[in-house]
Amino acid sequence: MPADTNLTSLPPQDFVAFCRAEGIRRFSLVTDAETGRVMSSHPQLQPLADFLGSDTRDFLQHEGLFFQITPEHDTLQGAFVHRTRRGQAAGGVRYWHYATVEEYLRDGLRLAKGMTRKNALAGLWWGGGKGVMARDPGVDASDIETRTYLYQEYGSFISSLRGCYVTAEDVGTSVQDMADVFSHTRFTTCIPGDFGGSGNPSVPTARGVVSGMEAALDFLERGGLTGKTVAVQGMGNVGGPLIRFLFEKNVGRIIACDLDPDVVRSVRDEHPELPLEARVAERGDMSIFEEDCDILSPNATGAVLNPETIPKIRARIVCGAANNQLEDAQRDDRLLYEREIRYVPDFLTNRMGIVNAANEQYGYVRDDPLFERHLTWDWEHSIYQTTRRVLHKSCSTSTPSAEIAMHLADRLSLEEHPIFGHRGRQIIASLVADRWHDP
Ligand code: NAD
Repeated sequence: MPADTNLTSLPPQDFVAFCRAEGIRRFSLVTDAETGRVMSSHPQLQPLADFLGSDTRDFLQHEGLFFQITPEHDTLQGAFVHRTRRGQAAGGVRYWHYATVEEYLRDGLRLAKGMTRKNALAGLWWGGGKGVMARDPGVDASDIETRTYLYQEYGSFISSLRGCYVTAEDVGTSVQDMADVFSHTRFTTCIPGDFGGSGNPSVPTARGVVSGMEAALDFLERGGLTGKTVAVQGMGNVGGPLIRFLFEKNVGRIIACDLDPDVVRSVRDEHPELPLEARVAERGDMSIFEEDCDILSPNATGAVLNPETIPKIRARIVCGAANNQLEDAQRDDRLLYEREIRYVPDFLTNRMGIVNAANEQYGYVRDDPLFERHLTWDWEHSIYQTTRRVLHKSCSTSTPSAEIAMHLADRLSLEEHPIFGHRGRQIIASLVADRWHDP
């Protein structure tokens, strides 16, 4: 490979080949707490550290990024630790395709930062981080043996990080994969119920979305959900239970769609007598955004709020669980604000998945008050209170709502854990001092 190769533009597989040729099996990119400079564990990889240091879009003084190349199957596995002031960095591990190392790094940086905000806004004593494994087209991820190996290896990798990052389930990762991670590390949540885990987070997530909707209606002085019309995009693990909860709140009508005919059929069969108009959507069909309704609820994929869709929205409120709904965080937040559509930011209303899993090591209590308070109307960090606070401030300061929520989250994320302080940073410093990259 030529000496002037731009490492960030390489496909992950070629980057892995480069590391192998250089004899690198593990490496880190760590922000120096004193100087703020990002330092690589290996001089050959300093261009990656410099790339981070000069980036203003996705990099936000992430405390440390750690990577390994699996001994078999040559898979790039990473742990992106953003901020650990409130506690260990927590966030799921994603197993996904990336065209370049830059795409891979940007996704991890952005997701880790997002977890810091989600956890802080929820008042959890957890920092923010994310795991990312690059899917190599040459590796058969459906082969059980390969998959088990990759996730067990990921577990060992997490153990080696001494607890600065605690992993969980995310896109591309299943509950069985989490059991494999758990077999090699204690630093994980979202493990199966049989092993003492907290189970499926989707139903609690749907409850949180209902709370966000109620707060936004209340803010607009439109009363409760009774009699309202709600348009739901995506009827899967979150959308399905959401429809059930909305009917329990006596909504007047639900218009819903999903790409999968079986999903549409099964939700329709669940509510034979109720005013549910459910349809199968073609990929790319965004007609649900044009429905005449009170609330639009995206519960499918991200980037659905953009200059194409926003002008067509007829609802006064947008509130759903889908992650990263704004295609461009600043531009689309403002577009919604200018149209006077009250947007309940996803990282505020979809928190109940992480709330459900984050503290599973502390055991379970029936109707757990530490869990339920997120869904009450009076706790200061509840979804209801935080949503109302964000929407009020958005109006009083003429600032879009996601921007307000982000500032609030960033401020909370700087508070230190009441017992352990900024311990994650100390763990990272000891990993560097002990030459973690050189096992
Ligand atoms: P899921 O895969 O179970 O359901 C998503 C559904 O959306 C699928 O049935 C899919 O067919 C459908 N879909 C995809 N594109 C569509 C489109 N263009 N139009 C209509 N339907 C479409 O996923 P989920 O667990 O229900 O999560 C939904 C969203 O919420 C995701 O963005 C996820 O990241 C986010 N989220 C989920 C949780 C959770 O606890 N499950 C927590 C936080 C955030």
